[in-house]
Amino acid sequence: MVAPSEDYPTFPLLSKNEINGQLIPEVSHWALSNGLVMYPPNFKTSQGLLAPTTLFPTPFPRKSFEQAISVQTLYNELYAKVSQDKDHWLGNLIEKLGQFDPEFTGKLWNLYVKAEGSGISQKLALGLFRSDYLLDAQSLEVKQVEFNTVSVSFGGLSTKVGKLHNFLNQSGKYSLDDGRPFYTQEIPVSESARLLPKGLWEATRKYQTSASHTIVAFIVQQGERNVFDQRILEYILLEEYGVKSVRMTIHEIHTKTKVDDQSKRLYYEPTGEEISVVYFRAGYSPQDFLSDQDWQNRLQLETSYAIKAPNLLTQLAGAKKIQQILTDDSVLAKFLDDAADRKKLSDSFVKIYPMDCSEQGIEAKKMAFATPQRFVLKPQREGGGNNIYKDDIPTFLKSIPEEEWSGYILMELINPEPTTQNIVIRGDVFSEEPILSELGTFGYVLFDDKEIHLNEYAGWLLRSKSSTSDEGGVAAGFGCVDGVVLY
Ligand code: ADP
Ligand code: MG
Ligand code: MG
Repeated sequence: MVAPSEDYPTFPLLSKNEINGQLIPEVSHWALSNGLVMYPPNFKTSQGLLAPTTLFPTPFPRKSFEQAISVQTLYNELYAKVSQDKDHWLGNLIEKLGQFDPEFTGKLWNLYVKAEGSGISQKLALGLFRSDYLLDAQSLEVKQVEFNTVSVSFGGLSTKVGKLHNFLNQSGKYSLDDGRPFYTQEIPVSESARLLPKGLWEATRKYQTSASHTIVAFIVQQGERNVFDQRILEYILLEEYGVKSVRMTIHEIHTKTKVDDQSKRLYYEPTGEEISVVYFRAGYSPQDFLSDQDWQNRLQLETSYAIKAPNLLTQLAGAKKIQQILTDDSVLAKFLDDAADRKKLSDSFVKIYPMDCSEQGIEAKKMAFATPQRFVLKPQREGGGNNIYKDDIPTFLKSIPEEEWSGYILMELINPEPTTQNIVIRGDVFSEEPILSELGTFGYVLFDDKEIHLNEYAGWLLRSKSSTSDEGGVAAGFGCVDGVVLY
């Protein structure tokens, strides 16, 4: 392995044989031994394969990385306060938004109204959040892509990929032929695999009970391919914090749990153990709900005394429409008094427009047709693969009635840093490609209707995608898990 000749090299030059014969077998063993793995589509359980991963960490400006981390607790606070829904600010907006998305937002909102009607027995809520950013090439500031309040993933695998890159570096696998290490600087490892379970543990500690111990229920999708990312959190929750967890799908809640009529406490049916925290890694998309029973099951959890991570209002606060509205400083000021704090957040905003009949909306509609190349159009959906990009926007808009446009937001495209090269390993094949990276920072926040009890930063994630693709979802097949070297 030799160093390339450019002044600012990204990784050592190496032959196909070196990659195939030396590095890939190392990566593969490490990945399988440590759970850096994901099933392919239509998997058989006998198959175990490495998650899409980069062979090398990606260079990222230290200042921009630190900027993202430095605003995490402010974002946690903002979204906790939005979720508290004082003065029904959130509720009123979501109720309206539900009319444009009756399939999902509307149904979640109706569920919340029902839950409120029958009485919310648990006022505490846990947010496990992830704020996602792209690097703006001009300012070198990170700009927010979106803020996720439900089912944030890759906290487990992110730590693993950082450890992989560290292992390859420390064990000399990245070393040059003369023995010098290629990376002399530290390769950071995200603490998300430990800090996200810590958030869950903190919630179990705040939960009031006379039971000797309680457990956490992970609500997951059937046939989840990204299962190892979740298992890592479960193992650490047990190993480091002594809290047991159980897994179940939304379809199983009525058979695997029981709610006490009086106390509203939630119990795990097979063992009778009390569930203190319900952690959702499912329920963020309409496809997760197959029947009325599933909706009933979600309602049962919402009205139970268990702490939800997240509860319905917190999940709904993550709507892209809410993100758009919060870019207005006078709105932001409802939640954050300190102008310096608001400035720190707004430095990470790009322009986001409504597509409604307001003055701003009318302007946005014009721009969407005049200069679509500058924008991405987003519906109220999560999980990747739902956005409309650039020149596809006008055709798409024309294909639906104008009344429905209000359900979308129009967002300026962030001009990311000119792409870096990396080698992406997918299954047992690798390819050298120009990539574009999206940084995520995690946080957790424990709050009730009046107060924020805990608010912490909880690690980071770098996901990269082939720079030719607009989307970046790893599980959706567009991207890969990456790490950073800071410069
Ligand atoms: P989802 O909730 O489905 O993940 P996102 O808002 O994160 O939706 O959009 C999906 C992907 O689209 C992002 O990961 C990113 O690659 C791309 N994207 C979204 N917004 C922008 C933007 N403003 N500029 C550039 N790319 C974007
Ligand atoms: Mg996203
Ligand atoms: Mg999202």
